[in-house]
Amino acid sequence: MHDGDPGPQVLVDRASREAASTDWSGHRPAGLPDGVVRARSTEDVVAVLRRATAERTPVVTRGAGTGLAGAASATTGELVLDVSGMDRVLDLRVDDQVAVVEPGVLVADLDAAAAEHGLMYAPDPASAALASVGGSIATNAGGLRCAKHGATREAVLGLRVVLADGRVLRTGRATTKGVAGYDLTALLVGSEGTLGVVVEATLRLRPRPRQQATTSAFFADVAAAARAAVAVTRAGVQPAVLELVDAATLEAVDAARGTDLRARGAALLLAQTDGEGAAAEAEAVLAAVSAEALEAETTTDPARAAELMTARREALPALQRLGQAVIEDVAVPRSRLADAVTGVEEVSRRTGVRIAVFAHAGDGNLHPVLVVPEGEDVLSGAPWDAACQVFALAQRLGGTLTGEHGVGLLKRAWLREELGDVSMDVHAAVKAAFDPLGILNPGKAVVDG
Ligand SMILES: Cc1cc2nc3c(=O)[nH]c(=O)nc-3n(C[C@H](O)[C@H](O)[C@H](O)COP(=O)(O)OP(=O)(O)OC[C@H]3O[C@@H](n4cnc5c(N)ncnc54)[C@H](O)[C@@H]3O)c2cc1C
Repeated sequence: MHDGDPGPQVLVDRASREAASTDWSGHRPAGLPDGVVRARSTEDVVAVLRRATAERTPVVTRGAGTGLAGAASATTGELVLDVSGMDRVLDLRVDDQVAVVEPGVLVADLDAAAAEHGLMYAPDPASAALASVGGSIATNAGGLRCAKHGATREAVLGLRVVLADGRVLRTGRATTKGVAGYDLTALLVGSEGTLGVVVEATLRLRPRPRQQATTSAFFADVAAAARAAVAVTRAGVQPAVLELVDAATLEAVDAARGTDLRARGAALLLAQTDGEGAAAEAEAVLAAVSAEALEAETTTDPARAAELMTARREALPALQRLGQAVIEDVAVPRSRLADAVTGVEEVSRRTGVRIAVFAHAGDGNLHPVLVVPEGEDVLSGAPWDAACQVFALAQRLGGTLTGEHGVGLLKRAWLREELGDVSMDVHAAVKAAFDPLGILNPGKAVVDG
């Protein structure tokens, strides 16, 4: 706190503690956090963490609370440090293509600010209008455009982070190149609030593509669509967006929108190319998918492109009309995408849980969406069994149990299996170096469940 700063707002009423106790994962902690502190400045964060260290109080940092892994959930004995009010774009250097922001800025707001200068903030989680930049850094969020432009890690040049004891650490730099010291920036990206509190980020912007072309193709089955996605990559083109939508999702979109997508095929592949060569690249995409496609088209007309993208854009809302929709998030090598989607279909048959799949095919990142009756506990019984079988399937195929949503609280039980004992030891040592008392987001992300 500094002169004239009213200091952080401290809330202990039940409603505030309840609202800050969980995220969008469906997880409900057994108790409520002891309080919520709303920080307005770095000084506030420093003061909170100094006191937490002195009193050994566990602190759960919170951005917008849209996480899907329970990473921002907090319970009795813990304090929530809400940084969503630190929401200023501090600097936007057009010639350097760099933005400096506070952590509470919403991802879509940053992109809109960049757009005013012909630039783009590339990471685009589907939650961009709701999620904070700090939270998306802490989860290394992905999105549709990362097939070409990379996930959040590729956009973070440097960070200002308050450590557990209140010291302020600067990592990285504002230049696009620089190799002095260990890459602590990369280490902090995706650390799910366990190593420090991000209070400022220096982010890379990119030129906003002036041209865009969209291709849509229907297939007789999901395996053919997955093969076509591989054919696109093999053709040497790099779509910004390469999405796969399965039959169950097409049916849900038809039911919601009155469309006839499912009648046209059992799987849909959508590709968007961008940049000056967008139209030529789209022709190459069309040629690559044509061998297997039942029908395919390419357009540079924005209105037609928006129509073609409907199936992907409306996938989640359409599935949510059918019940409680739980989004899972596994990734496999691109060449195993077809095995993964058919494997998920088998999990659905075995467990009796309805599962629809849409996937960032360009990244091999699948979102199997479990659709269960409203109110059903999704963290036990058949839904949880189905989710576990999906995690095991991804690991068996040489993939990972989380492509972009993080480990949080819910996926810790599979972490050791995926990382191995040596890696878990190194994780514990890194955690101890940053946070020796273990007060930052304890029990999350890097520990056994
Ligand atoms: C409808 C929907 C769609 C989604 N789509 C995507 C998607 O396409 N891609 C994707 O990757 N994710 C997606 N998500 C998941 C989620 O939105 C992202 O992970 C998001 O980036 C989290 O940001 P947040 O501000 O809500 O973080 P929170 O949920 O508040 O926090 C997430 C984690 O980050 C930590 N944290 C938050 N702020 C800070 C900080 N300043 N410093 C240190 N740690 C911090 C928290 O402790 C917690 O561990 C989606 C979620 C929803 C609900």
